Amino acid sequence: MQGFADYHMHTPLCHHAEGHPRAYVEVAAERGLTEIGFSCHSPMMAEFDDWRMSIEDFPRYLELVEEARAHGETLGVTVRLGLEVDYLPGHDPWIGELTKMASWDYLIGSVHYLTTELVVDHPEHLSQMEKDYRPEQVWELYWELYERAIRTRLFDFMAHPDLPKKFGSVPGGDLSNYYAGSLIALHETGTAFEINTAGLRKPIGELYPAMGFLSLARQAGIPLVIGSDAHAPEEVGEGFDRAIAAAKDAGYSQLARFKQRERTLTDC
Ligand SMILES: [Zn+2]
Ligand SMILES: [Zn+2]
Repeated sequence: MQGFADYHMHTPLCHHAEGHPRAYVEVAAERGLTEIGFSCHSPMMAEFDDWRMSIEDFPRYLELVEEARAHGETLGVTVRLGLEVDYLPGHDPWIGELTKMASWDYLIGSVHYLTTELVVDHPEHLSQMEKDYRPEQVWELYWELYERAIRTRLFDFMAHPDLPKKFGSVPGGDLSNYYAGSLIALHETGTAFEINTAGLRKPIGELYPAMGFLSLARQAGIPLVIGSDAHAPEEVGEGFDRAIAAAKDAGYSQLARFKQRERTLTDC
């Protein structure tokens, strides 16, 4: 993974990741990454769940990333400041506030919440979800929200596109109808998306997104980023060989980089 950038990783402030950001920088340097970006789970406008940083911890987040950035300078790793932001309908004003709270390099848009009660990738919500919805309904709901998130134009790139497959739930048949609205929205808004390698570590054992999505995105000229979604230092850059191979198979020859919310492309 010589020379690549990993833009999706967390900090202990979200209560389900471990290791000081400096340790993430060290693994990045060992693995030949030249750029990483922290993108921990953003605070919500109110207490919402126990798997994100609180607004009180937000200043500490900026400090941690600054500590990592200084450490990266000594190791030849550029460190960027990002945030993984949960999209829920009606939260746009709050997300707008977040955009002004720091000098971000990028904001990642994520859909984890299908409803305010149901988190699509939470193991403790799985049985409820399976009781209330068929896989087709989960996918319809998810992709509708994903498209709405893109259309807010609040995000530089979108995270793990087909996240609902995490535990293996995928509708049968051609999936491109689920993807279509989001692909058009990415194209129309000039938003990028990521290949997220965390799916390799989950029951589905695949990259997010599937090859079908990746190929259609390439045909539509949608910019691409790769992220490990590391929640521990040793996960930094994990699965990048697989992700890069998939990107090339789909026809990608360039990956996006972000600095101060400006996008550039580099050869891969
Ligand atoms: Zn997480
Ligand atoms: Zn993440």
